[in-house]
Amino acid sequence: MREAQLKEEQPKAGVCTNQWRSQEVAFRCLDCELDNNCVQCWDCFFKANHEGHEVQVIRTVGGTCDCGDPSSWDPKGFCPEHCETPARLDSVEALDLLPPVILIQARRLLPRLLEEVDAFVKGADETRSEQVKQILEVLQRFGEVIGLRFLVQDQLQGNRILAWLTPPSKLAPVMERFFLLYIQASPCFKRRFSKIFAQNIHKICKEAPELQSLSVQLFTIPEVAVDLMDDHILESVVESLQRIQDGLVETKNGLKVLKEISRTGELEWNQLLGILQDLKYLLYHSPVCHTCCVHRGSRCRL
Ligand SMILES: [Zn+2]
Ligand SMILES: [Zn+2]
Ligand SMILES: [Zn+2]
Repeated sequence: MREAQLKEEQPKAGVCTNQWRSQEVAFRCLDCELDNNCVQCWDCFFKANHEGHEVQVIRTVGGTCDCGDPSSWDPKGFCPEHCETPARLDSVEALDLLPPVILIQARRLLPRLLEEVDAFVKGADETRSEQVKQILEVLQRFGEVIGLRFLVQDQLQGNRILAWLTPPSKLAPVMERFFLLYIQASPCFKRRFSKIFAQNIHKICKEAPELQSLSVQLFTIPEVAVDLMDDHILESVVESLQRIQDGLVETKNGLKVLKEISRTGELEWNQLLGILQDLKYLLYHSPVCHTCCVHRGSRCRL
């Protein structure tokens, strides 16, 4: 069975999996977007009804279409092909949508593909980087088919997610696109991923700054941000901020002064800006702000 046929036969449900690279055209709708990072792709925009809405054409800097994601876009502005992912399509029931022969083949192939990536991110045998990039691209295409997506996301758990989040830098752009698709398309995976991301934010910021940009997909979503408060996200961000800042200052004559900016200093400045951006996303949400500014017991009281 061909890939196009497999995609055609799956139900028209869930979020749009269109991803773009930089400088592609997309649309903001000031009446439908839930924050100013949300956009709709060309296809979805023209199929949806935005009559009388205030819209803007923009050039993208990466990311995905938000059509079908009610945490980013008003459902009234979804196109007819996308909607909030029904729970059954993000569960083991999604496997029933796959033709049995495809399911058998995918189950046989998947462990080998995942183990190849595991081995590369642990050992980084440079000669295999092209092969592993291709594997990640295949796994990303799996993510565009509902049943195959479940099969892959079910295998992405704890330590594997953490190891893949800090890959060798050559692999980082492909890994970012891979995670982006699964975060966007599977609410179940997004919850699991956001916890691991939040608990390891300093490590990701230091070792894989390209993947830190995934935070915009997580921290700008109110339910995710509030949920992460239980995982002490604010403490982790503030602690990371402090650690990076400590590396940028030195004590001279009893005073703390900024170090002269060297090449490594420049990297640390970028890390500092990245983590400040994360803090900004989190403080967007009033329950998070409330904890910072009012709650006396908070270790992160501002
Ligand atoms: Zn779209
Ligand atoms: Zn759509
Ligand atoms: Zn609209």
